[in-house]
Amino acid sequence: MDHSKNMTIREIRAAVLRKQDGPLKIETLLMEGPQDSEALIRIVASGVCHTDISMVHHWETADGPLVLGHEGAGIVELTGKKVKAVRPGDHVVLSYQSCGTCRQCKSGRPTKCRRFYDLNFGFHRPDGSNALEQSGVGGHFLGQSSFSSHILATERNMVKVSKKLPLSILAPLGCGMQTGAGTVMNMLHVRKGESIAIFGTGAVGLAAVMAARVVGAYPIIGMDIAPSRLKLALELGATHVINGRKTDVAAGIKKIVADGVNYVLETTGNSQMLHLAPEVIKKRGTAAFFTGEGVPDFVPKGIKAVQVVEGDSVPQILFRN
Ligand SMILES: [Zn+2]
Ligand SMILES: [Zn+2]
Repeated sequence: MDHSKNMTIREIRAAVLRKQDGPLKIETLLMEGPQDSEALIRIVASGVCHTDISMVHHWETADGPLVLGHEGAGIVELTGKKVKAVRPGDHVVLSYQSCGTCRQCKSGRPTKCRRFYDLNFGFHRPDGSNALEQSGVGGHFLGQSSFSSHILATERNMVKVSKKLPLSILAPLGCGMQTGAGTVMNMLHVRKGESIAIFGTGAVGLAAVMAARVVGAYPIIGMDIAPSRLKLALELGATHVINGRKTDVAAGIKKIVADGVNYVLETTGNSQMLHLAPEVIKKRGTAAFFTGEGVPDFVPKGIKAVQVVEGDSVPQILFRN
């Protein structure tokens, strides 16, 4: 297809990573687009996710310069002619990309998309092109590269939201919040009265706390080493908190629920916590792990262990407002 008529080149400002460990430096880049299936979004806010930080530290020369960021929120400025879901002026929250045509996408499981890795970590569009090509910089990180003044998104990775809600608060919905909440609601299907321990009450853990509260879990035990985070966990719905620096975590949990909890969410990535999870889970309970290290091989029989990717969330469903 000939896109040349619609394609414009515009200057954008973006934080570019050019060497391992950073820094991210604001530069002017050239961006082409939008294509017919894309909308041009002016970014108002972006969260910073752990995945962005680990990309900064694991960057290699072969990766080339990159624009990271994947918890963007902004305002639609322009739409390609095939875009129906949003119009200029609409507020949108951005999320990960998926192909929409594979069997998994078609059956409502875009986090299992056959092209998930390629589309989210390949630094190109679904058709293989890269809007930042002219500047020699990789874009489209998780369908966004939101550390930027402007990005291009498709209907599959943006969700229209109410203009009454502040975009700066909504931005982390696109990854961290949907990961924590989606794990509780979509993956584990936590039910009323079931017990849950959440290791690490950062953004992902706190989203899980709130979701656990919404579904009526009890008790909801938050564990962290930062008193300020534990205080916030209590405000957001945790029924008990444990400071892992002051208290033996396993003993602390068993004091609250003698035979262990139905679920553990391990969001800290701390290997001690990985080992502890199976110890405090009831028989036939489930541990959900969020780290890239995978499901540990020492999980004993009788416990289910699952690896979390975006909490199995379909953004258009989870963000409904
Ligand atoms: Zn797919
Ligand atoms: Zn993320």
